[in-house]
Amino acid sequence: MELGLRGRACIVTGASRGIGAAAARALSAEGASVLLVARDASRLEAVAGECERAATIALDVTRADSGERAMAACRERFGSVDVLVNNAGAMRVRPLQELTDADWREQWELNVMASLRFMRAAAPLMAEQGWGRIVNVSSSSGKRPSTSNVAYAVAKSAQLALSRAYADAYAASGVLVNAIAPGPIESPLWTSAGGLADQSAARKGVDRERALEEARSKIPLGRFGTEDEVAAVIAFLCSERASDVAGAAWSVDGGSVPSIV
Ligand code: NAD
Repeated sequence: MELGLRGRACIVTGASRGIGAAAARALSAEGASVLLVARDASRLEAVAGECERAATIALDVTRADSGERAMAACRERFGSVDVLVNNAGAMRVRPLQELTDADWREQWELNVMASLRFMRAAAPLMAEQGWGRIVNVSSSSGKRPSTSNVAYAVAKSAQLALSRAYADAYAASGVLVNAIAPGPIESPLWTSAGGLADQSAARKGVDRERALEEARSKIPLGRFGTEDEVAAVIAFLCSERASDVAGAAWSVDGGSVPSIV
């Protein structure tokens, strides 16, 4: 299927590794130009080297001016902003009783305020040109709060609500806003040293493989998803072919959330 992404100017946040890097590669493979956003310039350069036509900008997405700066960089480099993927995120295993105000604020800033500021900067530009795609990378935790970090789950739920509100506001202008809700994915968030697998193991007093096995046992598909599987869904939602999809929250979770809606 030809996705119709050739020549589109895309912004992907959290593109220095994991799902964001895979999404950047997938969009690039479809012929799109991609502005990669994350905090670490050298890691961004490494991912850009795997893309056909890419530029990078080192930004912390929680800074108030990051959305505007990313739009300006994308327009300067590629001439327009056609696609935005709000993917930057982070999570630590922390029980409800241990979550501090700072933890709650951090998750709110990262998932809600950053997504809001990037959409607030991007959507009017896309509406002006009559075409745009925005994908917000939420989580299965946003649909069914997991106990691993309730601040993360609540912020991911809010991100879904925000995504829906932007979809309603901009669909008539040709700007289609959707969210995805990945379940456990084999990305550095889980698999890196000190990542969620190690944190879960330490909390439960089991070894890493046992912690991963427990997580897998809760997924109907019986395995973690891959970065590329999530990236494929992102690329489709960013594409011309997703022309009748707006305000959706697509699960990419191997069946983890036990609900059909
Ligand atoms: P990851 O840790 O591998 O990558 C996260 C990316 O976000 C990195 O590039 C990191 O540098 C960037 N980032 C984090 N904070 C940032 C900030 N303040 N400013 C700029 N960049 C920042 O994680 P991932 O698994 O690729 O996760 C990507 C998204 O998918 C996140 O929003 C995450 O919540 C979501 N998600 C992941 C899983 C999973 O199991 N991996 C499941 C559900 C949802």
